Amino acid sequence: MILTNCAACAAPLAHDAPRCRRCLTRYCSSTCRDDHWRRGHQQICGEIHLGGNAEQYNADRKYKEAVAVAVEACAADTAGQTCFICMDGPVEEGLVRGCSCRGAAGVAHVSCLARQAQVAVERGDWQNFVRWSKCGLCEQRYHGVVYCALGWACWKTYLGLAEEDWERRLAMTALGNGLFEAEHYEDALSVREAELAMTRRIGEPGDDRVILSNLANSYQKAGRLEDALSMTRDLYAGLKFGGAEDQETLISANNYAASLRDLNRFEEARSLLRETIPVAQRVVGEDSEITLQLKLKYAQSLYKDDGSTLDDLCEAVATLEETARIARRVLGGAHPSTTVIEASLQNSRATLRARETPSPAESA
Ligand SMILES: [Zn+2]
Ligand SMILES: [Zn+2]
Ligand SMILES: [Zn+2]
Ligand SMILES: [Zn+2]
Repeated sequence: MILTNCAACAAPLAHDAPRCRRCLTRYCSSTCRDDHWRRGHQQICGEIHLGGNAEQYNADRKYKEAVAVAVEACAADTAGQTCFICMDGPVEEGLVRGCSCRGAAGVAHVSCLARQAQVAVERGDWQNFVRWSKCGLCEQRYHGVVYCALGWACWKTYLGLAEEDWERRLAMTALGNGLFEAEHYEDALSVREAELAMTRRIGEPGDDRVILSNLANSYQKAGRLEDALSMTRDLYAGLKFGGAEDQETLISANNYAASLRDLNRFEEARSLLRETIPVAQRVVGEDSEITLQLKLKYAQSLYKDDGSTLDDLCEAVATLEETARIARRVLGGAHPSTTVIEASLQNSRATLRARETPSPAESA
């Protein structure tokens, strides 16, 4: 369930909360249920029931909204193009593109991308689940509102399965990621909290690690910095103990560094990154998004630090120039990581210029 609040009073719900007998809308108490019925639920209950009951009905609606937002955001990029899957234009559903494909490649209907992912998963290999989050042509992660639309598509496809099904569990993760990518941080947070509660109820020990890491990111973006820091620190310590060279450890180091940076603990961030970046370069390579993100954090913790020397600032600018070049080549100019790296490059140059130019009082 991702409808984790009472439909009448918005109180958080236990997983076995009372439900409307017909459409399965959930409530904190039978009082709230009866109250809601009288206040208008009786008029829409039948429609929700016919739409597959509360959770499906909600997901289908959110999906339609998210597709409309994605189509609108991609309108300029997809004008005059056709879907590479069904070869049709924007007849009933508009077109999107939210990956690193260029030219005429990668333009599609969200529903076609979703069907393609669903068919790949039906072949039975759980690794094919990646088609819900990565473009099959450029192999880069979808981003922004397109990922969000696919997240809802994924969730509405699998939500009817049993909680124990791996497709359903991965779908919840995909939805949380999509909401996060589209900057709906509060919504991402509530999906991830639901996912964590479910996993702790039915999963194996250790299953909650990735969820905790995603949850920490959502805390950070929602401004709960101390919560994010203690979570990312614990996760990093645990993973590093298990294997300092695992990709998961590198990602968790990146998250921990971001938490330190956001609390202005720059020296600690830098020493963590000095240790991690060479490992990433060796294990996942110079062109990997993980390495680019680690180098970004390193440069940021140099130029954002008021105590940095002129040499430090030059190092930050040089690091970001190189990182931006790689990001543009590998991820493309429209990718969010590229955008953040380029914005940081501008900021680092501005910081350096301000330091190099003596103030009028000094030059006088
Ligand atoms: Zn209630
Ligand atoms: Zn009902
Ligand atoms: Zn299509
Ligand atoms: Zn692509």
